[in-house]
Amino acid sequence: MAGIVRFDAITLFPQMFEAVLRHGVTRRAHERGLWELRTWSPRDFTHDAHRTVDDRPFGGGPGMVLMAEPLACAVEAARADEGGGNAPRVICLSTSGQPLSDARVRQLAEEGGAGRGLILVCGRYEGIDQRFIEALVDEEISIGDFVLSGGEIAAMGLIDAVVRQLPGALKQESVQDESFAQGQLDAPQYTRPEIWRERAVPPVLLSGDHARIEQWRRAQALERTRRVRPDLLQPAA
Ligand code: SAH
Repeated sequence: MAGIVRFDAITLFPQMFEAVLRHGVTRRAHERGLWELRTWSPRDFTHDAHRTVDDRPFGGGPGMVLMAEPLACAVEAARADEGGGNAPRVICLSTSGQPLSDARVRQLAEEGGAGRGLILVCGRYEGIDQRFIEALVDEEISIGDFVLSGGEIAAMGLIDAVVRQLPGALKQESVQDESFAQGQLDAPQYTRPEIWRERAVPPVLLSGDHARIEQWRRAQALERTRRVRPDLLQPAA
């Protein structure tokens, strides 16, 4: 039985998460009670007048580093709030993490549905004190080999990808046919009009012959994958 998936975001910018709460598939799934989100600001776990969450890096260098203690207190508060059941998984969004994959997204959706919550730690500035990561983080995840200004967009990418895998979020066939599900990219899609700026839709799609359409789509998907992502076709080492 799939239960409600709980996410806790540790973030200095909780309002950014309205992007997934307020729009589209993730919004509808939230309204249907498939997932929930709580946000925790490290600033609420500081004790000085300025509510300081960052400081200069030891050893020098530009920028600021998020201090371990406010982050740790925020994670511990989220954990305590989740109460009993499975200990939540603490994920830090990071350039140093394993790249997020469709397979990992599906595992996280399954675990989440089975009651293991996900605490998503969002870095900012130059990053996070390594001792916090060693002490409290189970797993670091990257959403790609580029640098974002903060972990929030990465965390929302993860939430969106996980939520669309939850039973009831999408029509089931949508997630089965999508890119990566079968180890390759999706076939190209077309909609009306049949001719747009002198470009016609591939005639097979208008044939009504479902077997031929299926075959054509499979061939297109394979060709596209070979061309742009041959790495997906290599068997895992
Ligand atoms: N100085 C760091 C970048 C810090 S960016 C470096 O060179 O690696 C600030 C925060 O954004 C990071 O702590 C991390 O939480 C988040 N972030 C940046 N890029 C990301 C990515 N590709 N995937 C996931 N999180 C990312």
